[in-house]
Amino acid sequence: MSRGLPKQKPIEGVKQVIVVASGKGGVGKSTTAVNLALALAANDSSKAIGLLDVDVYGPSIPKMMNLKGSPELSQSNLMRPLLNYGVACMSMGFLVEETAPVVWRGLMVMSAIEKLLRQVDWGQLDYLVVDMPPGTGDVQLSVSQNIPISGAVIVSTPQDIALMDAHKGAEMFRKVHVPVLGLVQNMSVFQCPKCKHKTHIFGADGARKLAQILDLDILGDIPLHLNIREASDIGQPIVFSQPESDEARAYLRVAAEVV
Ligand code: ADP
Repeated sequence: MSRGLPKQKPIEGVKQVIVVASGKGGVGKSTTAVNLALALAANDSSKAIGLLDVDVYGPSIPKMMNLKGSPELSQSNLMRPLLNYGVACMSMGFLVEETAPVVWRGLMVMSAIEKLLRQVDWGQLDYLVVDMPPGTGDVQLSVSQNIPISGAVIVSTPQDIALMDAHKGAEMFRKVHVPVLGLVQNMSVFQCPKCKHKTHIFGADGARKLAQILDLDILGDIPLHLNIREASDIGQPIVFSQPESDEARAYLRVAAEVV
């Protein structure tokens, strides 16, 4: 467990922060973050779980968690997270109109991040899962340098281009002394619902090979499955809506590996 850099300040009331990151966009990072948060809650109901979306340019947690509206303010002027499926959520998406173009640059993004990190009344949380933006930019660095992070989960498809970027992501976390908990290989296999034939659309074992190179664990393999996409799109993530399915079990196993 990392003790963090000297200027890092813990988020009040939050015991452990787990960031979910990816090198590339569209590999299933947010889907993993949401289902990981729900799986942590499902695996141990005594734990209080939060989900923070700092993917400021493309916040998708509100839709995936079926939440809208603006956070209320507490007496001390902190934003209260919105709650669904037993998970406390905060996202840039609650603070700006859904259709508003996100034209922030530089300082504006950083002040948004500052708000999301410091002006939320989480109460007491055992785990805060943070959905990072894709890549290795200022936001990722700023989050990593401002708060102590227990570990990073890196999501990648088995495709070479995604893996190259995942490699950079892992290196970045190592440079800022954030322990990398391991890789989640997403969309690793597609099974035809009719003939049951399995196809490795994005390649088979790419993340496993990268894990070997970087000496990291594979935290789980999530199949490419219609139910996962549909469940997210209607705001009823698979771990909540179909907890007995093989797809949900894959996320529950990842959650068990992470803690
Ligand atoms: P990212 O956060 O990396 O940009 P998302 O989590 O938004 O990626 O996922 C991109 C798209 O892929 C979404 O439409 C999502 O529902 C879908 N998706 C993610 N993982 C899976 C999966 N394992 N099976 C099917 N669809 C998936």
